[in-house]
Order: sequence, then C-alpha cells, then structure tokens
Amino acid sequence: MKDNYDEDNINLELEQEVLDYLVRYGHNSKDVKEALDRVKHAQALRKEFSANVTHELKSPLTSINGYAEMIENGMTSYEQSKEFAKIIHEQGNRLLSMIDETIKLSKFDNNYVKTERFSLFNLNDMIEQNIESLQKFAQGKNVKIEYMPNDTHFYGNDKLMDDLIRNMISNGIKYSKEEGGVLKIVLEESLDQIVLRFIDQGIGIAEENQERIFERFYVVNKSRDRKTGTGLGLSLVKNIAIMHKGKVQVKSKLNEGSEFIITFPKLMENDYR
Ligand code: ADP
Repeated sequence: MKDNYDEDNINLELEQEVLDYLVRYGHNSKDVKEALDRVKHAQALRKEFSANVTHELKSPLTSINGYAEMIENGMTSYEQSKEFAKIIHEQGNRLLSMIDETIKLSKFDNNYVKTERFSLFNLNDMIEQNIESLQKFAQGKNVKIEYMPNDTHFYGNDKLMDDLIRNMISNGIKYSKEEGGVLKIVLEESLDQIVLRFIDQGIGIAEENQERIFERFYVVNKSRDRKTGTGLGLSLVKNIAIMHKGKVQVKSKLNEGSEFIITFPKLMENDYR
C-alpha cells in the first residue's frame, strides 16, 4: 500500500495489469493498447471538463454578486438599479443554461443517453414549433426565419433533437448582424439520409475558429459572446448528432454568414440493436 495517493501511478499499474491479462487470453496487444488509450483520453477530457465547469460557473456568479452588492449598499440610482437588475437576470439565466447543458453533456460522457428512449416523430412539426417559440427573439433581432415545411419522420430521441434544433435556430438569430437578415432552415429527406441546414446571414466565423466552436466552453469573442452564451450549445449539438449516427459540418465566411449542415443516415429501430 502506498503512503501517498498517486492517481497517475495507480492508473499506470492498473493499465499494465489489464494489458497483461488480456494479452494472456489471446487479445492483440496493439488493439488493447489502443482501446486503453481511448479510455484514458476520454478520462482526461472529463477531468478537464470538470475543472472548466467550476471555473466557468464562477464568472456569472461573480458578476451577479458584484451588482447585487452595489444595489444592496444603496450605491446606485433607480435607473442604475434597473440596469443592474437586468444584468443579474441575464447572468442568472446564463448560469441556469450552463448548469442545464453541463448536466446534459455529462450524461453523454457517462453513456447515460440510451437508445431505448428513441421513437418515431415528426421532425417538421418540431422545427415549426421551435420557429414559433423563437419568433419573438428573431423579431427583436430583425431576423426573418424562412422555412419550407417538409413532412419528415425521424427515428431518435425527441427531447435531444428538440435541443439540437433550438440551439441551431437560436445561434442563427443570436449571431446575426446589427441590421438583421434572413435565417433559412431546410429539411431534406432522400432515400438514405435526412439533412438539416441552417443558413444565416450573420457575422460569420473565421476559418481558424470553425473547428474550435464545437469545443466545450469555446466562444469566439469572449467579451461579447460571454454575455449570453455558454459555449456549450454546439458541443451538445455535435454529441446529439453523433448519437444519431449523424455529423455536423460548417461552412462560413466572416461578415457574410454561416451554413451548418447536419446529416443523419436514415435509421430505423433495428439499426440500433
Ligand atoms: P454559445 O452558447 O456561446 O452560443 P455555442 O457552442 O452554441 O455557444 O457556440 C460557440 C461559438 O460559436 C459562439 O460563441 C459563437 O462565437 C460561434 N457561433 C455559433 N453559431 C454561430 C453562427 N451561426 N454564426 C456565427 N458564429 C456562431
């Protein structure tokens, strides 16, 4: 027994033990090593994520406490108090989204998202409902949403697909230009694929950031995006697409707009067994 608790050493010993055991029973040592490396990599990502969550949750809370304290001490005029209360409200909402999205992402990390909750539902209705519920937000940002209804049935987790669609539409609105523009949503179905496209005329994403936007907590413009966003939305979208065996692509030009293409193979119940 060790005197000092050394997690890395314990992991190394355990890894060697598992490797020896599996090789003894005829498994290819290269395959086993690769599988162990994948587990280790996932573990490292989880650790990094937990550390980031703690750090990221502090920023809205610090801001909430700071403004609340000023109001409490009578340091603010009526107008300022109203303005600060608005910031407190926004940061409170951001904190709630962060907690909510973190819980969802950790379910993916721990493989809690099961395909048993899959069912057949109408993707078209889901898109229309989300457009309706985000219409006020869109109008406030001068964004016109265009969508041509297309009755399409989809086999998957309806709650998660609803999250995916809401995230994609709200990003298309949130990252619009000052003067607004059009957000076009396209739902296409072919023999073997279902494709969702979200095409906006927003601020666009520079080439060097296009891959990074799918990382957890990554935001392009820290001072602006951190006011409302969490940097977790697209990471969640990517996880949801992958669990439905789909993929997300982005095409974008800075100051011109972005197109997000989410492609799903057409699957039925038996494909998940
Ligand atoms: P957030 O909650 O901050 O919106 P996301 O993970 O959804 O987090 O997005 C990560 C970053 O990608 C955003 O901070 C933003 O900079 C950029 N982004 C996402 N969608 C778009 C878009 N449609 N147009 C321009 N930038 C976008």
